[in-house]
Amino acid sequence: MQTNSANPSAPLSPALDRQSLRPDCGNCFALCCTAFGFSRSADFALDKPAGAPCQNLAPDFSCTIHTSLRPRGFRGCTVFDCFGAGQKVSQGLFGGTSWREDPGAKDQMFAAFKAVRQLHEMLWYLAEARRRTFDPDVAHRAMELGATIGRAVDGGLQQLLALDVQDLHAQVRSTLMEVSAEVRASYFAAGGDHLDAGLGPGADLMGVNLRGRRLCGADLRGAYLIAADLRDSDFSGADLLGADLRDARLGGADLSASLYLTQPQLNAATGSRATRLPADLVMPPHWHRE
Ligand code: SF4
Repeated sequence: MQTNSANPSAPLSPALDRQSLRPDCGNCFALCCTAFGFSRSADFALDKPAGAPCQNLAPDFSCTIHTSLRPRGFRGCTVFDCFGAGQKVSQGLFGGTSWREDPGAKDQMFAAFKAVRQLHEMLWYLAEARRRTFDPDVAHRAMELGATIGRAVDGGLQQLLALDVQDLHAQVRSTLMEVSAEVRASYFAAGGDHLDAGLGPGADLMGVNLRGRRLCGADLRGAYLIAADLRDSDFSGADLLGADLRDARLGGADLSASLYLTQPQLNAATGSRATRLPADLVMPPHWHRE
């Protein structure tokens, strides 16, 4: 049984089990390939309106160019992660009946998918907040918020679509920031060379060279680290919530104890086998070359 770090005897809320927040494309009706729209860009080779299936989607909901997405200009597809919303909506909320079998349900199914993805992403972060804090009250609050979100997702379609997601988001954000401050403070105490580097929430750090830096405890929430050279840097205790890591170079970086890093952020970056990752994340397939 998984337990609360602040209270080892407390059972982990099922909603905060990250295993259920991993995509299971085999049990999804390709909702990410239909619900969202995208524009022709460096990430997508064509325009696609929201609610319409991608032209590369096969009748069995698989992708006909799955093995060559990047060379074919669909890098965005390799970055996306639904946090397990696809199978939750396809199998849980819609009982395994696809939008092809029931076209009348399409709009609600896609709306539910967008809402559940947001909620599951919050659960992903809350699971980490609960694990990283040493404050039992904060850990309890993270658990309660997780349970609330879990009930909302499992409470049926009408309840889900009526949910005030923004209000929940504000509560989650407050808890995440509280844990961030606690974690970062512990690393500030140990020192770090980020204080003079102009780093901070939302900082414009596009293309900067931070190679080999000790960025322990830095607050990089929402920072623009696009194409930054972050190789061999230490991100222990660094808050990376929503940081834009597109094309950031992470080869040899130590991200194992970073805070709020997600799989889509890693998928958008480049790295190497020497990059140290948090336990719940995996090395993107395109990383093996650096
Ligand atoms: S290219 Fe493939 S993975 Fe990307 S949206 Fe189209 S069908 Fe889905």
